[in-house]
Amino acid sequence: MFSGTNLPRIGSYNMNVVLSAIQAGEGISRVEIAKQTGLTAQTVSVIVRRLIDQGIVEEGGPVPSGGGKPRTALRVNANASYAVGIHFDPIEVSVVVVDLMGRKLAHSRKTISPELEPEEIIAETADIAHRQLEQLGIPGSRILGVGAACPGPIDQDQGLVISPPRQDRWTQVPIKNLLKRYMDFDVIIDNDANAAAIGERWCGHGRTTSDFAFLYLGTGIGGAMFLSNEIYRGASRNAGEFGHIVVEPSGNLCYCGNTGCLESMCSPAAIVRAVRAELALGKRSSLSRVFDRDPELLDHQSICLAAVAEDPVARQVVDRVADYIGACAVVIANALDPDLLVIGGKSVNHVAQIYQQRVSELVSSRPLARKTHTMRVVISDMADAGAALGAASLVLHAAYSPSTADLVSA
Ligand SMILES: [Zn+2]
Repeated sequence: MFSGTNLPRIGSYNMNVVLSAIQAGEGISRVEIAKQTGLTAQTVSVIVRRLIDQGIVEEGGPVPSGGGKPRTALRVNANASYAVGIHFDPIEVSVVVVDLMGRKLAHSRKTISPELEPEEIIAETADIAHRQLEQLGIPGSRILGVGAACPGPIDQDQGLVISPPRQDRWTQVPIKNLLKRYMDFDVIIDNDANAAAIGERWCGHGRTTSDFAFLYLGTGIGGAMFLSNEIYRGASRNAGEFGHIVVEPSGNLCYCGNTGCLESMCSPAAIVRAVRAELALGKRSSLSRVFDRDPELLDHQSICLAAVAEDPVARQVVDRVADYIGACAVVIANALDPDLLVIGGKSVNHVAQIYQQRVSELVSSRPLARKTHTMRVVISDMADAGAALGAASLVLHAAYSPSTADLVSA
């Protein structure tokens, strides 16, 4: 049970099982919930009555049931409560406010100045969130909490960002306490990939499956696993580092110590380096003019756009990256056998279809169990707000999903 939260109405494990079924199955009936959850019809009925009395769930119209007594559709009351989600990216911060269904009501982004200390950034971020809530007219009493997605690794117990790669100022930052100080709501933190995966579970592709993996292509590459309806975190809560699976043993040296891990071959920086190396050999490309003027002007976005326009150099590099992502996806399929792999993060912009197609081909032809079950591959449709929406979903998930409620701060 939470202490010091504004969530006295959040109930037992069974209540959260029922609520989770209603949230995932828009318009589900009591009978269907009983069938799905294994709870008795009477237990479901009592819990649903309590959720309706508390304003969390509402009844819709009757649903025809094949000639028998019509059933009543149940829905989550989206306006019962709200959550704030914050994504701290190395170069910008995103803030969203969502309703109880995880729908985005407000979204702001702000570039982070490299001169600012983390506490100054957190103070500014809190101002943005307070302004959003004020504009939406949502009182603090209706806010379940604040979720923050941070670059990993993090220490969830202590609420610390530990030592994100390439961000020295963020070493050992007590982000949870700082957010509580500036926002005065309960705070939950997680790494950006776990947050994005929970966002998929709450309001994206993961709503209808209990087993999926998430591959997060941002500035770096991360991942998360949602197995048997739970984020799988591992012994030290650092599971899901798909970015450091080796896909090319003779490849680039990574800061993790491996050579040729996915991040070292497929991060935006690696893609830019690979294209520059090809252009330096004098290969013909629509990017040559920019490269010849100043190689530094060539960025990841222009390479992705050129790849989609079938520029031979950009396309060759992006195709190779798609192969590496596919190799990693085959490892995921062999190791975890999930229903679904969701690929998200801002680095899939423009090239999402190239990745999706190639990775799908590889996971339908390489995993050992492919004839029994093929892992589907989809692109997240949460666009740039993915991790911030995921951060907000951390709050909803911790409050309402069975068994992860203990993650909300005391
Ligand atoms: Zn690595």
